[in-house]
Amino acid sequence: MNIHEYQAKELFDQFGVPSPKGKVASTPEEAAAAAQEFAGAKLVIKAQVHAGGRGKGHFKNGFQGGVHLIESPDQAAEFASKMLNETLVTVQTGEEGRLVRKVMVAEAVDITHEYYLSILMDRATSRPVIVASTEGGMSIEDVAHDTPEKIIRHHVHPLLGLQPYELRKLSAELGFHGEQSKEFCRLVAKLYKLFLTCDCSMVEINPLVSTPDGRVLALDAKFGFDDNALYRHPDIVAMRDPEEEDPREVAASEFNLNYIGLDGNIACLVNGAGLAMATMDIIKHYGGEPANFLDVGGGATKEQVTAAFKIILGDPNVKGILINIFGGIMDCNVIAEGVIAAAKETGLPIPLVVRLEGNNVEAGKATLAASGLDITSGDTMADAAKKIVAAVG
Ligand code: ADP
Ligand code: MG
Repeated sequence: MNIHEYQAKELFDQFGVPSPKGKVASTPEEAAAAAQEFAGAKLVIKAQVHAGGRGKGHFKNGFQGGVHLIESPDQAAEFASKMLNETLVTVQTGEEGRLVRKVMVAEAVDITHEYYLSILMDRATSRPVIVASTEGGMSIEDVAHDTPEKIIRHHVHPLLGLQPYELRKLSAELGFHGEQSKEFCRLVAKLYKLFLTCDCSMVEINPLVSTPDGRVLALDAKFGFDDNALYRHPDIVAMRDPEEEDPREVAASEFNLNYIGLDGNIACLVNGAGLAMATMDIIKHYGGEPANFLDVGGGATKEQVTAAFKIILGDPNVKGILINIFGGIMDCNVIAEGVIAAAKETGLPIPLVVRLEGNNVEAGKATLAASGLDITSGDTMADAAKKIVAAVG
């Protein structure tokens, strides 16, 4: 799950990570009022979408840039009206862009230098890793490609935590001195606390800036949260913006299904992430394109299976469905009952191939056979994949 920059700012405030004052607005009038509140200060106005590269992006209406310096409330309203309800295209949004529904008016700070700072989970070492660079404000992928020596990585021991000497080392490597170094260390310590407390998968600040008056501030923020830990954070879940997410994924998350929408036309419903990956592979192997990754999990209920099937059928790109179940904890008959319940509600307008194996498979097959639905059965994974690829033609 991701959040907007203005929401990230709320978390920064809560944890004491310094960032410029800012206020979110959904209309030009609100933007003007926000600018009025910060009267006297230099200001920026920033489009709020779940994608980076806004500064260098462009709107489909021809307006350039999703981040602008402004000087007055009138100008705030003028720029807001050019951004709100318009589509912003950046290197991260793809061609289709993102509709801007909110802007943030924030204090503009004088920048001495732009740095890059992020904390993420590193699977290879099973530790949080801090990634930092003196080359901030630009795409970190480019920095990693062109000047890999300018990227600093520091792994944190999960039990010992982030030690003061580690902070000082990082600070020195980035070239901070004196008071500013202390500012930087304090900021990273707070950010690390935020990262752990909120079960983030990633916090990225690009740019982190130093200012002529000795401050160190987070000017931008991108957050990712571990979906499996969200149950511990109702306040963060409340920040979810379904408008920014794939509607299929929103529906799936309501039923605790692991679903990722893809571009193909063969939907798959599978139990277990490994089997789901293998099923997508075999669809591709026989010349098809998967429409999704969908793992109903080991102990799915009939309601979850029904919901999963409905999500699949609700996707207009789907031209055929492959159900591939290896019953272990999962009872094949539960899958069969869920499929039938969903098909009765929605009809079954497209080809369905089912391959069941394992726990209670005979009952599952019997239930499907007795349903009167037009279902093709697959004996093996390969057989089932070939059949569905042929059926969608
Ligand atoms: P994005 O990464 O989506 O382009 P940023 O928030 O990083 O958006 O903004 C792009 C650039 O705009 C930053 O690198 C920084 O130079 C400038 N900028 C952003 N916010 C401020 C601010 N509050 N004050 C001054 N400059 C800013
Ligand atoms: Mg940025």
